[in-house]
Amino acid sequence: MTSTTAATPGTTPVPSNAARVLRLVHEEGPITRAEVTRRTGLNRSTTLTLVGELVERGLLHEELPTAGAPGTGVGRPSPVVRAAADVVAAAVTVEVDAVSVALVGLDGTVRTRLVEPQRRPPTPGEAVETVASMLDRIRPASAGSATLRLVGIGVAVPGTVRVEDGTVQYAPHLGWHDAPFARPLADRTGLPVRAANDANLGAWAERLAGSGRGVDDLVYLNGGASGIGGGVITAGRPLSGADGYAGELGHTFVAANGIRCHCGAVGCLETEASRDALAAATGTAPDDLVALAAALAEERPEVERVVDRQVAALATALRNAIHTVNPSIVVLGGFLGVLLDHVGDRILDDVRAQSMTGTADRLRIVPAALGADVLVHGAAEIAFGALLGDPDRISDAVPAVGAVPSATAVPTTAAVRAVAPVPPATATAPHNRTTTHPSSRDDAAEEARTP
Ligand SMILES: [Zn+2]
Repeated sequence: MTSTTAATPGTTPVPSNAARVLRLVHEEGPITRAEVTRRTGLNRSTTLTLVGELVERGLLHEELPTAGAPGTGVGRPSPVVRAAADVVAAAVTVEVDAVSVALVGLDGTVRTRLVEPQRRPPTPGEAVETVASMLDRIRPASAGSATLRLVGIGVAVPGTVRVEDGTVQYAPHLGWHDAPFARPLADRTGLPVRAANDANLGAWAERLAGSGRGVDDLVYLNGGASGIGGGVITAGRPLSGADGYAGELGHTFVAANGIRCHCGAVGCLETEASRDALAAATGTAPDDLVALAAALAEERPEVERVVDRQVAALATALRNAIHTVNPSIVVLGGFLGVLLDHVGDRILDDVRAQSMTGTADRLRIVPAALGADVLVHGAAEIAFGALLGDPDRISDAVPAVGAVPSATAVPTTAAVRAVAPVPPATATAPHNRTTTHPSSRDDAAEEARTP
């Protein structure tokens, strides 16, 4: 990442004060209006006006605090501001055995959700059709849906996703290679669509609402059915890389005589530390983490040997991550969280033992907090990205019930184009790509990097 000064003028405008207020309340709310004033550094009358405008647009709600709430003891209580629950994003996850769609409010509440089990991994075309038909069903069925406004779709994909156009570059467990996804889904639904790697979204969700809440430098690793995914937050923003492929810590090198990985390399973290190997050693079902935790607690010697090898591999990968991005917290999800609960400080001690002096002094390694909902929140965040960057975008939202815009009603370019300015901290240098519309594609890449 580079500073704002390196970015092309015009492609990364500073967010408006209204956008700053909206993002603050969305990420930190409900909070008092006085706190909004303090946190934004705006003066009180400006905050009053901006909150009033955002309330007017239905993006925020304001109410007096209930008696006895903190801060209500002295003087006139400051109104409490919360993000609207009826402005929603569709959060989509595509996995080998299921496609799910949830409507998530701007206040973070999950309004409704639908899961469609899959007998085999869906093709990209099948996934687009499945998501579209689920949305058609979910919209009228949503509780209180007459007032829901849908701003767009965010998709979590277990693979590498090119941020500029939402093409799935490689999703090994789905069997997708170079598969356009965001654009066909936008064409089919008439809604803006953004797609990203699932672990990158998980990292952001844990930072917003989970174990990494408020932490600016975070490494997230999740161990699941599709191996080990990783995501990095640095200086408070997601680390994306040139194409959106950053954070693939599951494929960092940890063992010279290791197992060959599906990626073609040998000794990747995800081949040396695997959920299936732990499940096999303990005799538990691969997706039953509760049973795995119980089996590990028995501390059987043959199981502990597997645990030791996996902890060593994990510590090596974390050593590499720490020397690269200097996080203050490492968040472990899925079976890695179970492993952490089992061995406690051993992972941190192993990491410290092989780290340069000082680099891991402040480091904490903690289990993920969001559990099964992590990707729902992560996917919703990228769908809200455009609105959070520019609250005027609420006028583009469609009712979540009733007339659904036809696929042809919204031009493709409008549906997937860049629609929001990017906070200065995320600004990157223009990309050296040859495209027919370089500025709009660069905008899209900038936009897509920013949940
Ligand atoms: Zn690999």
